[in-house]
Amino acid sequence: KFISLMFVVTVLAGLLVACNSDEGASGDGGLSVGIVLPTRDEPRWVQDEQRFKDALEDSEYTTEILFSQGSSANEKENVDTLISKGIDVLIIAPHDGAAAGSAVEAAKSEGITVISYDRLITETDAVDYYVTFDSIAVGAAQGQYLIDNSEGSNVPLYLYAGASSDNNAFLFFEGAWSVLQPKIADGTFVIANSSEAEALQDKGDLSRDEMSRILSQVTTNWDPNEAINKAQTHLTAVGGDMKGDVAVLAPNDGTARAIADVFASDNEVSSYVVTGQDAEMASIQYIIDGKQSMTVFKDVRTLVEDAMGMAITILDGGTPETTGTYDNGSVEVKAKQTDVIVVEQSNVKSELIDSGYYDADEFSGLE
Ligand code: BGC
Repeated sequence: KFISLMFVVTVLAGLLVACNSDEGASGDGGLSVGIVLPTRDEPRWVQDEQRFKDALEDSEYTTEILFSQGSSANEKENVDTLISKGIDVLIIAPHDGAAAGSAVEAAKSEGITVISYDRLITETDAVDYYVTFDSIAVGAAQGQYLIDNSEGSNVPLYLYAGASSDNNAFLFFEGAWSVLQPKIADGTFVIANSSEAEALQDKGDLSRDEMSRILSQVTTNWDPNEAINKAQTHLTAVGGDMKGDVAVLAPNDGTARAIADVFASDNEVSSYVVTGQDAEMASIQYIIDGKQSMTVFKDVRTLVEDAMGMAITILDGGTPETTGTYDNGSVEVKAKQTDVIVVEQSNVKSELIDSGYYDADEFSGLE
C-alpha cells in the first residue's frame, strides 16, 4: 500500500513539474524570455534590439524587450514587470553593473535564470551566465591601432574612457593601457590630458583603483556631449606642443564622432588618429569620409545568437556551454566570449557589406 501511494505521489509530482516547466516555454499567456537593454539613445543598443527581433522572428518562444533609458530605477521596474509576466530566463545588459544587483536578485529569488548580456553585473551571486565580446581585446586593438598609425616620437596622446559604472569601461581601458603604456614609457607618446595617467605611466598593470583615478579625469560617461565638453576643455588647456599630429583613444563610436569633430575644428591640430568601437552606421560613414580612423566591429548577431541559444538550452532543461569565467567581485560567472574585428577604410566592404551586416546603399562614397 505504502509503495503504491508513493508511486501515485511520485507520478503526481512529476506531472506538476511538467506543467510548471511547460508554462514558461509554451504560450499560455506567460513570457519565456525577458530582455532588458540599457538605452535607446545609443544606436549600439537599438542595433541589439533589431538583431534580437531578427533572430526571434520564427521562434516558438515568447519574448519581450524593454529599455531602461539610462536609469537603474527604470531597469528595476522593467525587471519587475517581466517577473510578473512569468519569464523563466532574463537576458540583461545593465545600465550600471553594480546597481543592477537588486533587480537580478529579485529575478533569481523567483527561480529565473539570469544571463548578463555584454556588460557584467557585479557584486552579486544572482548572475548565472555572461555572454560577451572579448572586451580586453577591444581596448588592445584600439591601442595597437594608435601605435601602428602614429609616426615619430612625443606624439600627444589624448585618453578617453567609458562610464565607471560599466565594468566594460575598465576592460577596454585595461586592454588599451597594456599596449600603450610601453609606448608612453619609451617616449613614442606623451599623455596630453590626464595627470593621473601621467603619474602612473611607468606602471604596466594598473589596479582597479588606479584605473578609477584615470577614468575620473577622462570618462565620457558614454555620453557624446560629455565627450565634446571634455575634448574642448582639454584642447583649451594644452599648449601648442600638445597639438599638431595627435592620437586619440576614444572608447566607442558615439564618443569617437563627438571627439573627432572637436579635434577636426581645432586649427592647431593638423591630423588626428581616433579609435572607436561598435561599427555604428554613422561611424562607418565617418570612416569612409576619413573623419574617424577605425572601429572595433562586434558582430551583434553572434552575441544575440549566443544569448538566445543559452536561453533556449535553459528552457529545454539543459546546461549551456561556456568558454570561461568572469569574476564579478562576488562569484565566478560562467561566460561565453566572442572575438572582435578591427575595421578601417580598407576593409569596411569586406567585413561589413560582404558579410551582410549592412547594405551598401546605407552609405555614400563606398568604393
Ligand atoms: C558596450 C559598448 C557600448 C558602450 C556604451 C559598453 O558596455 O560594450 O558596445 O558602446 O557600452 O553603451
